[in-house]
Amino acid sequence: MTVEQTEEQKPVREIRINPIVPTESVLVATARSMRPRKAEEPAPRDTRRHVETCPFCRGNEDKTPPQIARYPKDDDWQMRIVENLYPVLGDDRSQPSFVYGLQQAIDGYGRHEVIVDHHQHGIAVHEMSHEHLSSLFHVYQQRMAELYQMDERLKYVLVFKNFGPAAGASMAHTHSQIIATPVVPQNVHDEVSYSKTYFDRHHQCIFCSLIDEALTFEATIYDRGSGEVVRKIDVGQYVVEKGEKFIAIKPFASRYEWEVHILPLQHQSNFLDTAKDDLDDLAQVMQRTMARLDAVIGGAQFNFFLHSLPQGKESQSCHASYHWHLEICPRTSIPTGFELGSGLFVNTISPEEAAEQLRSVQL
Ligand code: AMP
Ligand code: ZN
Ligand code: ZN
Repeated sequence: MTVEQTEEQKPVREIRINPIVPTESVLVATARSMRPRKAEEPAPRDTRRHVETCPFCRGNEDKTPPQIARYPKDDDWQMRIVENLYPVLGDDRSQPSFVYGLQQAIDGYGRHEVIVDHHQHGIAVHEMSHEHLSSLFHVYQQRMAELYQMDERLKYVLVFKNFGPAAGASMAHTHSQIIATPVVPQNVHDEVSYSKTYFDRHHQCIFCSLIDEALTFEATIYDRGSGEVVRKIDVGQYVVEKGEKFIAIKPFASRYEWEVHILPLQHQSNFLDTAKDDLDDLAQVMQRTMARLDAVIGGAQFNFFLHSLPQGKESQSCHASYHWHLEICPRTSIPTGFELGSGLFVNTISPEEAAEQLRSVQL
């Protein structure tokens, strides 16, 4: 039996080039035979409000290393920042950096902190109020600024969140983390430098161009020889959510099936420059995006992280070309030897189809 396939149903099998960092490309392969092994079926999410033995729950403040801040300052805190009990970088046993033949090592100097996002143990991001999420983003800003000011050896401050075991989270209580590193991470460096190259050529920020395309374009690709229409791309189909100040976009070359990026609509290189009022809109776009993801995936386990212009002198010529953003990467499959060996992520759901499903969720 043959099944007629419409244009939409045809499986996609193509290598999509990441427009910002060309070396980070993706194989979109939606044929079932290519389907990589799914992540283990997740245990049901721990939705408890309070857990007696959890070091991040209220009343157990003495089960964490020293507190850096709490908001508000009383016992009924909503968020806390604490030092990480098992930091991956620290300043406690400095060793000189060295180069020995081809081997090079940089001292693992830095800071690793935990932000207890919410006093409620098992609350998911889409269940938090806008006000709370907005305050959380403000807390991120405050602590990032403090760390940059505290020590000029800290070259990058990365804020990220792991949620759920499939995303590598070892603690069930909702939390984010801050890791301040003595070097700018290579992927941030690449984004900054590739977007500068684009800017030098086109006099435009590539992220702004992507947003403009997402909002206005309908592209038709013609065959050069025959002039026939090869393909129509309705670029607007990549918009997942839009607020007054922020937009959530499904990247054309999404590494993860349900990956979504959130960016400010107005050009801005540094997350720290976002006005407090605008964080409310960011919170709304974030909350709605997470609700869509949770509904479609059925309990999203994810990582998210912030990419913002590094504060050092080297980045100062990149304010016009770099555009800060937040990348949300839900984890629904496990990278395999192919990903490791080729550097190509395999995505088995076409980003167009995924965006359509996310948009059609009734909130
Ligand atoms: P994750 O593994 O992503 O869930 O992150 C949890 C983080 O919390 C890890 O980096 C741990 O080192 C850290 N951690 C675990 N227990 C404690 C604790 N009692 N106080 C502070 N940090 C902790
Ligand atoms: Zn807890
Ligand atoms: Zn821009």
